[in-house]
Amino acid sequence: MKFEVLTLFPGIVSAALSDSILKKAMEKGLLEVKVTDLRDFTHDRHNTADDAPFGGGPGMVMKPEPVFEAVDRIKAEGECVRIILMSPQGEVFNHKKALELSREKCKLVLICGRYEGIDERVRLSLVDEEISIGDFVLSGGEMAAAVVIEAAARLVPGVLGTDESAELDSFYDGLLDYPHYTRPAQYRDMPVPDVLLSGNHAEIRRWRRKEALKATMRKRPDLLEKVELGPEDKKLMGELEAEMWEG
Ligand code: SAH
Repeated sequence: MKFEVLTLFPGIVSAALSDSILKKAMEKGLLEVKVTDLRDFTHDRHNTADDAPFGGGPGMVMKPEPVFEAVDRIKAEGECVRIILMSPQGEVFNHKKALELSREKCKLVLICGRYEGIDERVRLSLVDEEISIGDFVLSGGEMAAAVVIEAAARLVPGVLGTDESAELDSFYDGLLDYPHYTRPAQYRDMPVPDVLLSGNHAEIRRWRRKEALKATMRKRPDLLEKVELGPEDKKLMGELEAEMWEG
């Protein structure tokens, strides 16, 4: 998949991409991320990219010209593009959105705001959609763009070591993940659940499924309303409910 990030702070985005899984994905050619400095599209001596808001009030507003010119350059390259504005006013990002983006064939252009935001004409005439990473306000869209890139890229087949690992993560099948343990088998007064040491794979699978259901029921009951449970899941849910009554 292909991204191009438009930002006044390219270093923040590059730092997030420079290590580990994303770096390997880029080396394998599964992910391409170009980070473009919007100051390259300013034309004055001071590389001015922001200005005071019309109508007064505090703070500065990112000027429209650098963003429009950067997008013109990208469009002139001839590829299809989908233009996304990072914004606290956008649709809240989640697994479903990450999966959808991971399958996108067009280049995803992520525009990062700073200061009070970007001149509204960018949103009005360039942007296909706005994405928020949550109901809070960041000082800039760079971290949000990095979050979107990382979450989507790890769902591209081949990016993770085994494709399976994304499938077992939280949200993939509508449930939270089951708990994980590693050596030592006994740490302080805390033993690892016996079943995980039993070598009985059928039992381990069943235990994990039950724990995933339990975690979801306890921490995110809202998710259970949206997920379709099979016969085994229903049986496990019955057991969990009975165990809850027992104490
Ligand atoms: N005044 C704006 C916020 C500006 S914050 C408002 O209240 O709507 C500066 C920039 O940070 C934004 O332009 C956006 O690109 C980015 N940003 C802030 N919070 C974000 C969030 N929750 N998700 C995605 N981007 C965000």
